[in-house]
Amino acid sequence: MAAYKIAIVGAGPAGYFTAQALQNAQTDELTFTIDMIERLPTPWGLVRSGVAPDHPKIKTVSKVFEKIAKENGFRLFANVELGKDISLKDLRDQYDAVVLATGSAAGRKLGIAGEDLENVLSSADFVPWYNAHPDFTNVEVDLNTDTAVVIGAGNVAMDIARMLAINPSELDSTDTAEHALTKLKQSNIRCVIICGRRGPEHAAFTAPELRDLPKLENTDVYIDADQINQAALRIEQLGEVEKDLRNNLEAMRLIAEHDKKGVDRKLEIKFLANPKEIKGNGKVSEVIFTINEVKDGKVVATDKTFSIKTGLVITAIGYDAVEYQGIKIEKGRIANIAGHVEHNLYVTGWAKRGPTGVIGTNKSDSADVVQLIIENLKEPKQSEGITALLKSAHVVIDQTGWEKINASEVISGELAGKPRIKEVDWKRLISLGTS
Ligand code: NAP
Repeated sequence: MAAYKIAIVGAGPAGYFTAQALQNAQTDELTFTIDMIERLPTPWGLVRSGVAPDHPKIKTVSKVFEKIAKENGFRLFANVELGKDISLKDLRDQYDAVVLATGSAAGRKLGIAGEDLENVLSSADFVPWYNAHPDFTNVEVDLNTDTAVVIGAGNVAMDIARMLAINPSELDSTDTAEHALTKLKQSNIRCVIICGRRGPEHAAFTAPELRDLPKLENTDVYIDADQINQAALRIEQLGEVEKDLRNNLEAMRLIAEHDKKGVDRKLEIKFLANPKEIKGNGKVSEVIFTINEVKDGKVVATDKTFSIKTGLVITAIGYDAVEYQGIKIEKGRIANIAGHVEHNLYVTGWAKRGPTGVIGTNKSDSADVVQLIIENLKEPKQSEGITALLKSAHVVIDQTGWEKINASEVISGELAGKPRIKEVDWKRLISLGTS
């Protein structure tokens, strides 16, 4: 029988689905012990700090993660940072395979003038701020403006726009960070405008998320029906239309046509609006857009511009993987071939393929990487694993420690009618996890 040690770095969906695929691949002849290493004191990655609080159903996948964590041979080492507490080289020496499931945490930049003005934020800062990530509690967010602009036509832009546009009382029963909820309740924002640089037919939104918009109770959602009709005509001319695209356009048409409630909160989606410059005196006050058009299937700039006066801009234009000691980043991803980086080093999830796909996409992606790992395995290493690497004084939050944090958050939440109240302070998280 061959028993292998695998280290997974990053306790988000891609990390857990890698562990699950390893567990599923075990036979009488082949077994794995899995050590999952996580920088934060808490696991679950974007399920905890990315998924919008008003979409709690998506978070139920955490039940799957907890089941994986209960399997024999699985250990969690949270509050352990690669590159600081342990080196990648040491990890690779100790384990038969190391899988990086570290995601893409750096928000992409627009690269236009004014991007560094005050109150121009990246989704990479704003989303973890409202989701109680302990590193983002102090993000300076000023909601004292009537209009917010969200740049990007993807699901993250939509999450952010919803969070800003709905009545904050709708978030009372969610796990939105307490500091964010307090601020949202004082917000003067009544109009949120999502701006996509290409046409409706090119938008990265997905239909289920679009279909939710007309159901918002306290917000009217607007899309220009002409833009949708023109996009529909354009794609019909190109020949057969993919089902997902047809569904998207249909969902957008329903938004354009649905009866408005006449409420004072408004969310608008504009297309063919390419950000050109952000203006302001220290702080953002206006965004200038070039109006694009679609000509012969291509998106091109016109010589026309328009502007939106706004006191808050959030860019939601995708993410890049963060540089690691000695790891090459290519096109925002850890350089890899089908998940193989080199020798016994692998990568999965967003760090492997870029920031695309829904949570479930990581399941098949990670299963493929595990298949590759198994094909490449050699003689099992005789080594101690992570315990040989960590200083004896290092405080690790293990699965039991995480369960204590989890229970404490859930109990606090129950008293307040929420799924949980997330602890945002590193020290208190560690103290809860080691009590
Ligand atoms: P995304 O889906 O790739 O969307 C990024 C958007 O930013 C695109 O519209 C893109 O336009 C635009 N963009 C990029 N560079 C730009 C620039 N320089 N100027 C203006 N616009 C620019 O990324 P995301 O929204 O961050 O989402 C990441 C992944 O997570 C996606 O797969 C998404 O579906 C998933 N997600 C899913 C859910 C859910 O299922 N509920 C929620 C959140 C996120 P172009 O197309 O023109 O490049």
